[in-house]
Amino acid sequence: MNHQGFLRSGPDERSPVTASGSPLLPEAAPVVDWDLPGRISAGEVDEAAVLGGWSPKSRYGRRAEVEWVRRLTPTGTVRLGLRAVDDQPFDHHPGQFVGIELGIDGLGYARSPYCILSPPDEERRFELVVRVVRNGPVSRYLGSCHPGEVVAFRGPTGRSMMPKNDERDLVLLATGVGVGPLYSLASHMLRRGFDRRITFYWGLRLAEDIFLTDELDELARHHPNFSYRITLSRPPAGWTGLRGRITDSVPPLLPALGGTSFYLCGNGAMTEEMATALSDLGAADEHIYQEHYFNQKHVPDPLVMAAIRARFVAADLFSPLAHQEARTSLFHLDAPLGGSGNADPTAPTEVGRPVPKVVERASSLAGEAGAG
Ligand SMILES: Cc1cc2nc3c(=O)[nH]c(=O)nc-3n(C[C@H](O)[C@H](O)[C@H](O)COP(=O)(O)OP(=O)(O)OC[C@H]3O[C@@H](n4cnc5c(N)ncnc54)[C@H](O)[C@@H]3O)c2cc1C
Repeated sequence: MNHQGFLRSGPDERSPVTASGSPLLPEAAPVVDWDLPGRISAGEVDEAAVLGGWSPKSRYGRRAEVEWVRRLTPTGTVRLGLRAVDDQPFDHHPGQFVGIELGIDGLGYARSPYCILSPPDEERRFELVVRVVRNGPVSRYLGSCHPGEVVAFRGPTGRSMMPKNDERDLVLLATGVGVGPLYSLASHMLRRGFDRRITFYWGLRLAEDIFLTDELDELARHHPNFSYRITLSRPPAGWTGLRGRITDSVPPLLPALGGTSFYLCGNGAMTEEMATALSDLGAADEHIYQEHYFNQKHVPDPLVMAAIRARFVAADLFSPLAHQEARTSLFHLDAPLGGSGNADPTAPTEVGRPVPKVVERASSLAGEAGAG
């Protein structure tokens, strides 16, 4: 245990240098440690705004024993190894999750889903990676579990992330613990001999949030078609990896969108904004897989979306949105009514909305077609 209170041993030790070109972590990284809160108790019920509330009845009949627990980051991420100890089989596909149930005397039962981190080849054993949320009862429960404890669960259940065929490249985009199912998918596909490109972009806030780099480096070492990059929204001085949120740093790095399936997992704001942008730029919905852990109801702001679209360099797909916007601007349908009928259509709109690159391109194409 180091002075920040998290274990440095085992497969999840944060590696200071990564094969992905992520930088050395600075010696004097800011300490952002907070004591993992223990299990929520009946006395704290007012503080715990449990999603869906506490239910009076237990619903999850399966049982798994916690074999080990590791604190991965000083910012509250833990990894657990479990083994199903009931008499039912435990088979899963990458992307599937288990529901974990916590029961507390005097409160009732709370339940939350967790995606399985480990690839599906370890019989009846599975791993979870959990971000402990301050007022979250189930994540606090998992963060305070000890080896030998038996937890109630259901599953594995949910959609499989396995692609229908092996003919498309995969671009994986995760924030935080959303890395779990995408790591499971990548390692499973690569072990099966998948030979298309898999590129993983991982958005985190701080350098202290980084974990799993040993495993990701190993995948990159053994599989030249796999690479990953970390983007930090609050990078420390000296950070040479990507900077900003995924929606800032990744769009300029995607030269083309065709022939690719996109997997988005984690914060619902990121998944929804990226999915919307990809779709606006012409990616078919069947090639965009989304799993949001929280911020489920995020509604992207149109100005934010225009800015994200403008950061994309790829223009290999037909973009229905750009086409429609180009037509609109070509026929001046967005010109303000009244006033001068000869308003300059290229002048900024009243809200100063930036014109996406794809719109500019479509406009010039439309202009060329018109000129011909
Ligand atoms: C399909 C699916 C799979 C999931 N897989 C994982 C997983 O593998 N690992 C994991 O840690 N979580 C995962 N989650 C989120 C998880 O189910 C819980 O929402 C989270 O652990 C908090 O649950 P809780 O019962 O402790 O608190 P809750 O009362 O359910 O939530 C408390 C608050 O925390 C917010 N919250 C939830 N997750 C986060 C987060 N990561 N960062 C910031 N705020 C958050 C919630 O929106 C809510 O406002 C998954 C969610 C879904 C829908």
